[in-house]
Amino acid sequence: MKAILMLGIVLGLLITSANLEVAAQGETEILNVEQYAKNIEICTQNLIAIGKAIGAYQKEHGDFPVWLSDLHPKHLTDGNPLICPADKKNGKPIFTPNTDPEMPVSYSYEFNPRYIVNRDRTGHLQLRESKTEQRKLYGDAMPLVRCRHHANKEFVVLNLSFSSRIYWSSNTWENKPEEIYESLEETISTLAAGIQEQPDNEHLSSVYSALVRLYMKVERAEDAENLINRYKETLKPDNLRDHFALGTMLEAMNRYEELLQLFAKLEEQFPENRSVFSRLSKIHERLGNAELANEYHLKANPVLALIGNTVPDFSATDLDGNPISLAQYRGKVVLLDFWAVWCGPCVAEMPNVKKVYDTYKDEGFDVIGISLDTDEGRLRGYLEENEIPWRQVFSRKGGDSPVVRQYHISSIPAPWLIDRDGTLITHQARGKALERLVAEALKDKSD
Ligand SMILES: [Zn+2]
Repeated sequence: MKAILMLGIVLGLLITSANLEVAAQGETEILNVEQYAKNIEICTQNLIAIGKAIGAYQKEHGDFPVWLSDLHPKHLTDGNPLICPADKKNGKPIFTPNTDPEMPVSYSYEFNPRYIVNRDRTGHLQLRESKTEQRKLYGDAMPLVRCRHHANKEFVVLNLSFSSRIYWSSNTWENKPEEIYESLEETISTLAAGIQEQPDNEHLSSVYSALVRLYMKVERAEDAENLINRYKETLKPDNLRDHFALGTMLEAMNRYEELLQLFAKLEEQFPENRSVFSRLSKIHERLGNAELANEYHLKANPVLALIGNTVPDFSATDLDGNPISLAQYRGKVVLLDFWAVWCGPCVAEMPNVKKVYDTYKDEGFDVIGISLDTDEGRLRGYLEENEIPWRQVFSRKGGDSPVVRQYHISSIPAPWLIDRDGTLITHQARGKALERLVAEALKDKSD
């Protein structure tokens, strides 16, 4: 009952904002708002049904299902609750490791057995193990099943918690845990108790930083201060991630000078780390040191310094074993596309790249894919199924492949557009801009 009531309130807010958004586009769009609301209503009923089915499954098996499809057909007689009506892909997830092996499912199941990189990036652990650890801190308010198909202006997720409550949150609720509780007081007392009872929990650093921020919000600066001091005592000197969390805490308390000292020290300790540069850029920006802010910004994003300059050549082998280099393409406008089959936004952009390729390939446009995949079979399967004609650089090493390292690629999609002379036009050639930029680049040199 409480869940439905709560949803009604949030839903009201969302409809209002959707209404505002579409109002300028004329009356016909109002229907979409109704559809939008109806989808959320059905999705909520789905989540309630899934929650009940999980309860029944637990009663029988003494544990959670491995995948949501295990609920079907016994506990979810009709398979439809596993498909959200707002899901345009009918259960084909954007993020492939979440794929239910048995049937199409629109919802991400937070307790599935896929492997994730652990927090120190030293190895892999099961998502389920990590969530179990996290649940000891945050309790049963934590999301268990999540729907990401109703994103409005702000990215929102509809959640079913372990305790079967339904609520909205942002994608990464860990940064704002108050979203998963019913009040600020409940958030603070739960997190404070968690730190007390679970001093060795894997997920503790994000709890500390959230709690410091919340203490500041309710004007309990002394508690925040004590908490930071306690955190510093537990800090291991070589754990970069935990130091970043300390940075977040100092920022919440507006202690920018101390924050600068912290990151200056980290820069000495990790002289090549671009996350440290990026943070230093933001700190200097905040302190009004524009020049230093810019300097660190360029250090953090070396590609920015390449824009307008010649892209250094690379040499590698393509998927067919033939040598490939940028020099081979001199005289053409080239999209150097760093991508992977597992990268949702990369794959979503592919039809657009293909369209532009088909339109301009005879005028001197070409594409080189730099695949960050590690699974050759999966890559080949994708290329074949989607009839991707251009060449691919593939080393099986993913983010560690030599070309990726050479160009300091730290995230994908990274679509670099290079003109006929080998000069980098932009490192973000995607969406509608791609066709315009390619057409301009082709025209530039032909007249
Ligand atoms: Zn949904």
